[in-house]
Amino acid sequence: MSPHYPLTYTTASVPDARRSEILASPQFGRHFTEHMATAVWTIEDGWHERTVGPLEPFTLHPGTAALHYAQEIFEGLKAYRHADGGVFLFRPEANARRFARSAERLALPQLAEEDFLASVEALVRADERWVPTPISEESLYLRPFMFAADEFLCVRPPERVIYSVIAWPTGPLFASGHTGITLWVSGRYTRSAPGGTGEAKCGGNYAAGVAAQIEAKQHGCDQVMYLDRIGGEGNLEESGTMNLCLVTSDGHLITPALGTILEGVTRDAILTLAAEHALTPMEQMISLDELRSGVADGSFTEAFAAGTAAVITPIIGFKGEGYAFTVGTGTPGKHTLALRDHLLDIQYGRVADHHGWMRRVL
Ligand SMILES: *Cc1c(COP(=O)(O)O)cnc(C)c1O
Repeated sequence: MSPHYPLTYTTASVPDARRSEILASPQFGRHFTEHMATAVWTIEDGWHERTVGPLEPFTLHPGTAALHYAQEIFEGLKAYRHADGGVFLFRPEANARRFARSAERLALPQLAEEDFLASVEALVRADERWVPTPISEESLYLRPFMFAADEFLCVRPPERVIYSVIAWPTGPLFASGHTGITLWVSGRYTRSAPGGTGEAKCGGNYAAGVAAQIEAKQHGCDQVMYLDRIGGEGNLEESGTMNLCLVTSDGHLITPALGTILEGVTRDAILTLAAEHALTPMEQMISLDELRSGVADGSFTEAFAAGTAAVITPIIGFKGEGYAFTVGTGTPGKHTLALRDHLLDIQYGRVADHHGWMRRVL
């Protein structure tokens, strides 16, 4: 039997007019829905206290472990409303499995796949009114997370952990999502290293990336491109919240191999869809030098970033200390836009779901 998250409906509903206003211009991570799912894990009792109730603050002791040692992981997925009014999740099983891998890396307890799915689905049902009817790319973003809640400041595997899911309506992430973004290749900061936490979706990776993001903005760029700094200038990794994909003039779709990067669900979907666009998918190391010369001689024709929040965002140029170059014609590439439309069409139910990726909740 799948775990049950009993619902206590909020008694302080957001007025309809206010909710309509928020849904009309959603902002990423700004206006949260009315409910949250929670569960507690203790070393004695395992997972228990599963509930969906009104969204409310946590009361945390100042000595709570996660506040000091960042034992925290999270996930990100979306609920999409289809034309028939139904609400669907995109490959939530993949998020559940990645959450389990992140938990293992951060020495947090495992949450079973069916538990993850039950919590996310229970929250979507409770907050159904917050799933936007799409005009362009609106959806309900779901954020499962888990943290060490011990009131004990010794570095060790936790004995008390809180799991929760919150949600917010969201629209297109970048204003420049259709025109393309420019990435700052950081020569100063790295995101991860072999044996580090690069493959885990953990808050600590993001905390360490903010300084690099400031550097990118100072150079007029939208996001950071991280290098592994192994050999020469290093190899391309990812953009910190999005994976990197390149298209070649001879029909390959190349993305950096796994190891120190996050294994994106979007990345995986693109590798699968590539063949339907007459592109041969390849996962391999690409050095900054290869990118620079490949862009110059026309063998790399397109670049894009991929992730749940931003879907597929065209990359039109790269900048670094003392250099800048444009990809292709400096406009979004045709394969990039076709893959983007294809993925969105699957997610919003506008084309058949041949891969069995959509999971109906309502
Ligand atoms: C979440 C995330 C991505 C994208 O993963 P998706 O599953 O496609 O959303 C890429 N890089 C990092 C660092 C991430 O945290």
